[in-house]
Amino acid sequence: MTDQSEFKAAAERALAEAVAWREDGPKLPAAPAASTQELRDLFDIGLPDDGRNGAAVIDNLIAAGSRGLVPNTHSNFFAWVMGASHPVGVAADILTSAWGQNAGIYRTAPAAAIAEEVAAKWLLDLLRLPPDASIAFATGATMASFICLSAARSEVLKQEGYDLEEEGLIGAPKIHVFLGAEAHATIHTDLRQLGFGRKNLVEIEVDTEGRMIADDLEAKIANYTGPKIVITQAGHINSGAFDPIQSITRVAHAHNAWVHVDGAFGFWVRAVPELAHLGEGFEKADSWTVDGHKWLQVPYDSGFAIVRNEEAHRRTMGIEASYIAGSADDGRNPSHFAPELSRRARGFAVWAVLQTLGRNGVEEMIRRHCRCTRHLETILKDVSGIRILNEVIINQMAIAFGDGEDPLEVRNALTLRVLDKLREENRNFVLGANWKGQEILRISVISRQTDIADIDVLAESILKAWDTVQTTS
Ligand SMILES: *Cc1c(COP(=O)(O)O)cnc(C)c1O
Repeated sequence: MTDQSEFKAAAERALAEAVAWREDGPKLPAAPAASTQELRDLFDIGLPDDGRNGAAVIDNLIAAGSRGLVPNTHSNFFAWVMGASHPVGVAADILTSAWGQNAGIYRTAPAAAIAEEVAAKWLLDLLRLPPDASIAFATGATMASFICLSAARSEVLKQEGYDLEEEGLIGAPKIHVFLGAEAHATIHTDLRQLGFGRKNLVEIEVDTEGRMIADDLEAKIANYTGPKIVITQAGHINSGAFDPIQSITRVAHAHNAWVHVDGAFGFWVRAVPELAHLGEGFEKADSWTVDGHKWLQVPYDSGFAIVRNEEAHRRTMGIEASYIAGSADDGRNPSHFAPELSRRARGFAVWAVLQTLGRNGVEEMIRRHCRCTRHLETILKDVSGIRILNEVIINQMAIAFGDGEDPLEVRNALTLRVLDKLREENRNFVLGANWKGQEILRISVISRQTDIADIDVLAESILKAWDTVQTTS
């Protein structure tokens, strides 16, 4: 078999399975069929001494893999804030793999570098951010915030006259990082990786929606001298809430702090006229994290680190070596903005998804997901014993069960039982979370195709589960 005929045979099987998996509508049953041990047995078919035929390998992968897939690609997925890998993005991704470009630098992958450059321009336009901000195409929000906060770390030290790149972090002036008490868990990971310990952090109180309280920031920040970073959030994972950015930037910039925005999914409201007010003012920040693989539906993995000060961004990320240096009319080197040299050509899929959705497609989808969430709220809000804990402003809902007068343990037990019932029924993929000590059913409407009919099915399941729990308690 030639290389090409083996590829064709393997790829045709993969494509047939890919198309079958991408059937429209809900995926039933919702949760993966196989147990952990079954999956181990399916995958652990032994490392062969002699390699197997390519098409047979793909057949085995399909047999094993398809037993353990989560339906975030489908309309009945409401669990984590995750995207659905737009099928045209997936098609672009297949080409990305087949082309096999190393998108480290312009010279190793000119088309990939320019696809990123152009997609970056469209992203800044859609998100209404400064057109000359610099962007890294990262693996997701975690890495995007890591990149932005590296630039922040370098720049706030530079403002104090300290050259981080020359002197190093050990012995540097202490930086204080101000962040909301409900900042996303990954922000803490990023900070740890960047050399910040808990004593560098100043936690700012939040309100019932998880929004940072600007007055508390104002009171606390005044107690610190030296370099400062303020981390805000656009889109809380339980409530969808946005930090009061106007007051935060006013206070933070008055204290020469760098303001970073974690807008992993919520930032996309800026692309929808009637929701844009929620994200108004966030453009005043210094850096922004936005995911591609959440609301934009770019296949995994995709996130954007956007930095106003390109010089600070490149200073902290740039890789310099003689074999990287290109000529003056080369396009941008992706590796100047992200921590990796060799990397996947992530720009192709982003370019393809933006072309397929267009401005109106992005708007329509986000508007529909928010309308779906309000629809669910309307159905559930007056049902006795069902409490919606957040103000439903975008696509997130936190639902608790039991009478508000019941003790917390009773309510938590009821909510957990409703979750069990929903899992047993397995018509929708849903999950719980614990928010401020309360067990919740956390609904995220973010899967590309989800529409009102899917919400009606979800609502019916929730009402039935709640009914069963009440009649059996
Ligand atoms: C999802 C999310 C993250 C982490 O994003 P990844 O893409 O999973 O790395 C960070 N912050 C917020 C607000 C999120 O919703």
